[in-house]
Amino acid sequence: MGHMETIIKKVKKGQLDRESMEMAGAILKRGGLVAFPTETVYGLGADALNEKAAEKIYAAKGRPSDNPLIVHITNLDALEKIAINIPKETKAIADAFWPGPLTMIFEKSDVVPLGTTGGLNTVAVRMPSDEVAAALIDAGGGYIAAPSANTSGRPSPTMAEHVEEDLAGRIDMILDGGPVSIGLESTILDMTVTPPMILRPGAITKEMLEECVGEVTVDKAVIQPGQRPKAPGMKYRHYAPQAKLSIVEGDMENVIAKINALAEEKVKEGCKVGIIGTEESVHNYRCGDIKSIGTREDESTIAVHLFAILREFDADEVDYIYSESFDSEGIGSAIMNRLLKAAGHHVITV
Ligand code: AMP
Ligand code: MG
Repeated sequence: MGHMETIIKKVKKGQLDRESMEMAGAILKRGGLVAFPTETVYGLGADALNEKAAEKIYAAKGRPSDNPLIVHITNLDALEKIAINIPKETKAIADAFWPGPLTMIFEKSDVVPLGTTGGLNTVAVRMPSDEVAAALIDAGGGYIAAPSANTSGRPSPTMAEHVEEDLAGRIDMILDGGPVSIGLESTILDMTVTPPMILRPGAITKEMLEECVGEVTVDKAVIQPGQRPKAPGMKYRHYAPQAKLSIVEGDMENVIAKINALAEEKVKEGCKVGIIGTEESVHNYRCGDIKSIGTREDESTIAVHLFAILREFDADEVDYIYSESFDSEGIGSAIMNRLLKAAGHHVITV
């Protein structure tokens, strides 16, 4: 239950409403919380250099205090203010992927409070490309801490309505810029180790990074359950729908048959069932609440719908969800990383 009035303002790209942006900037500067669109997911912003403001994010989300926040900036001078010992490869990576869906981790400078970094001596930094995000960061003082704008543990928000569902009454303002374009959180790359290590997969893939700087490794915990992840937030149950979600993996024909059998069995028992299929497969399913997540021809369409579909099944109070499995190439590795976490790694192989 909330207690404060949350102001909601629609903002249009290409013609940002100056009054709304000034209001949002002023809220951030006086230590308040503003949710805003980015190209990845909606973020919940606070002044990253104001410890009290950053701490409000944890309270509003119910986020564990050891789970650090990403600091959002709009230029490279800002990076030099908050990070030290920045390795020389950073320039090439920033030139190639900033602004964009990539977060880099560096040793932090003294201006960044430990309340922002979850007590760590490192700081995660991203330069988003979304026009509303960039304008808000500048209006709010240039250093905006922002994790995803969901209640901790729920799927990340890809529309302003998702933010409202979770945080209305708990934050000062929501900037509604419509649906996001990517739909999965940023790739996190640890620049404090050599070679750099991916701690969370995202739209900027290992292959893309390697083309730019040579060898890049991947934290074992990204692939294997049970490993202790290097990004503190990755150890928590995440993105989880209320229903029991299972991923069915194998040849398409067998997967469809298995999902149909499981769904029929549960429906007979009187349960509500959701099915996650694709444009190519949905016509093969026979019962339950059948949703197409996108097309296998272009996996970015799957990425952008994943979290919204998990939320729709929550709203429909579904008991069981059966999902097809996806390729783990390119953005597919980020899709599967989120889907496996949402399923608590429950995979049925056929
Ligand atoms: P969110 O913005 O909600 O996706 O959460 C931010 C993610 O970045 C979490 O998984 C954090 O654990 C990770 N993160 C932020 N700062 C650091 C850091 N200094 N070192 C490692 N991981 C970090
Ligand atoms: Mg999050």
